[in-house]
Amino acid sequence: MNWISDWALPKISGLFKRDVPENLWHKCPSCEQMIFRRDLETALHVCQHCGHHMRISAARRLECTLDPGFSRIELPRAPADPLRFRDQRRYTDRLKEAQTKSSMDDAVAVAHGAIDGQRAVVAAFEFAFMGGSMGAGVGEAIVTAAKLAVLQDAPLIVFTASGGARMQEGAVSLMQMPRTVIATRLVKEAGLPFIVVMCDPTTGGVTASFAMLGDIHIAEPNALIGFAGARVIEQTVREKLPEGFQRAEYLLEHGILDMVVKRGEMRATLARIIGLLRTPLVEAPAEAPAPEAAEGLPSEAEASPAKA
Ligand SMILES: [Zn+2]
Repeated sequence: MNWISDWALPKISGLFKRDVPENLWHKCPSCEQMIFRRDLETALHVCQHCGHHMRISAARRLECTLDPGFSRIELPRAPADPLRFRDQRRYTDRLKEAQTKSSMDDAVAVAHGAIDGQRAVVAAFEFAFMGGSMGAGVGEAIVTAAKLAVLQDAPLIVFTASGGARMQEGAVSLMQMPRTVIATRLVKEAGLPFIVVMCDPTTGGVTASFAMLGDIHIAEPNALIGFAGARVIEQTVREKLPEGFQRAEYLLEHGILDMVVKRGEMRATLARIIGLLRTPLVEAPAEAPAPEAAEGLPSEAEASPAKA
């Protein structure tokens, strides 16, 4: 309004901001309250004032989901930049920058270990890595995680956070949709649970492929989940979209999700689900030999034509 508010105040507040190290306090993007960084870390990056779930890194996700002593696996390298893509910058430069910032090769981290003592393979998306976009590297990570789950006879849990396909990889990126679907089918065919935890945001090609094919669909509170953006839909259908459209609670109400779980309760919930789904499978082999022995005759009858 005048020179004080326009010029002097921003300068003064700028001076003070520099005195407070940025990593000591964090401003909640939802309620704008300042939170002490250490408190935020203990609260798993959930605002203590308004309950807003902030985005967390893939590494932190693995840490707070798996029991201590889990091991992160090395993922096969996908061919970098198959299309030699360039917009304002080279794709290889963008990749390198993301790799340096996140110390990850691509947007998904995979680990195996246990959740509350029960074996599990967990894959977590890193949204900070090019918006968690799905290119060949991410496809490779999901395929590897699925194969590992089958090999270890463990359920597969995927925490998704993705803007969708990776534009810079064009058709190669789209091919990851059927690839990841087939990979997660392997897990199901092996009779193992496939659990998807949708985190903010889960959109585009990830939603349109394996993320919607879980045995159990969980989401974090208020996570944005959808295929196309709300604005695009609004312009297409020429209608105002309802309140909370594409948010976790709305999808739960409309039957797309099985549950919305707070981050602090996620680990215990996953442990309970795995326990419920896995217990009958563990008991089955003990009971299985008995009926087979009792029905010895049919199996012999089956065997004899084969010999002849
Ligand atoms: Zn807040």
